[in-house]
Amino acid sequence: MLMELSIFSYMEKYDYENVFLCQDKSVGLKAVIAIHDTTLGPATGGCRMWTYASEEDAIEDALRLARGMTYKYAAAGVNLGGGKVVILGDPKTQKSEALFRSLGRFIHRLGGLYITGEDVGTTLRDMEYMRMETPYVVTLPESWGGAGPISPATALGVTQGMRAALEEVYGTDSLEGRTVAVQGLGSVGWEVVSLLTQAGARVLAGDIDSEKVEKAAAAFGVETVADPNRMHALDVDVYCPCALGGIINDQTIGELRCKVIAGSANNQLYEEKHGDLLHERNIAYAPDYIINAGGTIFDTDRLLPGGMNSERAMENVRRIKETMKSIFQISKHEGIPTYQAADRFAQRRIESVGRAKGLSKSANVRMG
Ligand code: NAD
Repeated sequence: MLMELSIFSYMEKYDYENVFLCQDKSVGLKAVIAIHDTTLGPATGGCRMWTYASEEDAIEDALRLARGMTYKYAAAGVNLGGGKVVILGDPKTQKSEALFRSLGRFIHRLGGLYITGEDVGTTLRDMEYMRMETPYVVTLPESWGGAGPISPATALGVTQGMRAALEEVYGTDSLEGRTVAVQGLGSVGWEVVSLLTQAGARVLAGDIDSEKVEKAAAAFGVETVADPNRMHALDVDVYCPCALGGIINDQTIGELRCKVIAGSANNQLYEEKHGDLLHERNIAYAPDYIINAGGTIFDTDRLLPGGMNSERAMENVRRIKETMKSIFQISKHEGIPTYQAADRFAQRRIESVGRAKGLSKSANVRMG
């Protein structure tokens, strides 16, 4: 187990509200629901299914991911808190309708304290099974009242965050003539390339899947790169990672030649110290959980009054640019790296909304 503290000490240190352990041997269910903070609204976050090395690892993962969701929603201006459920098991061999319906019933018993969704190891089909038992499910197919594909919203958020970073560095948010290396041409990267080329940027595109690269060259007339694994080292204005996490690490950091890092990939900094090094090197890093929040903003719009409204959702996604500008401001004024500034921005929103609601942290804790 990575967590050095006991579970209660860890919860106390990082202000968690609840952890629920769910087991139903009749369907082989073992799951952990972690609720971090519900100041802004019900704790929300996806359902992960994974073969954990130990039960403690599963609890730690649920706790860590739930806290990440608190910050993500808070910074994105979404009125939801942070939560997560992890199912202990192999998603390839241990899934069943009954397992997800049983978990749906556990979630339902929490009465709206926690809202679930799709994550690593789960699919929209699994969400449908949970929706049969509870309304507290957010990622659903359109036919079930869900928002539909979220990648176009994520991509729009990425280009908005990129514009804020460009403004910070060059004094203008224009993409016209800027050189951008887009690494990964999957659901998000493809849409990012489309938006960038429309905005007049010069795009260098790469993917380990050569078919996608050829398609992008044909569809958008972009330049392609020989080695998709070395795109961080290209001499470009913007490096836009849209594939894997951990790409800013001990090996890559010294090879960066860009002025801006702005892409959708989750967990781009291998360790926090790499965020400190980017700050020292004056590379404008758009923190991943801020710049890639577009899909989340879009997806959760259906929880707002009147239900799903795509226009309102995309308007809120466009605001990622303003959020990112605030984060660069905090970074500059307080002399801290942008990844820390993002956390402060999120914390301040939680604190101020908490005050407006008359909630102190202790008053906010609910009994499970
Ligand atoms: P995806 O699986 O559709 O696409 C990823 C692409 O990256 C694939 O085409 C893959 O071949 C390519 N790839 C993998 N390794 C590579 C490498 N070394 N070099 C170049 N290309 C490589 O995933 P996605 O939905 O487009 O998401 C991309 C990233 O953004 C992920 O890190 C994801 O967690 C994050 N993200 C996505 C969303 C969303 O709306 N889909 C939202 C938030 C964050």
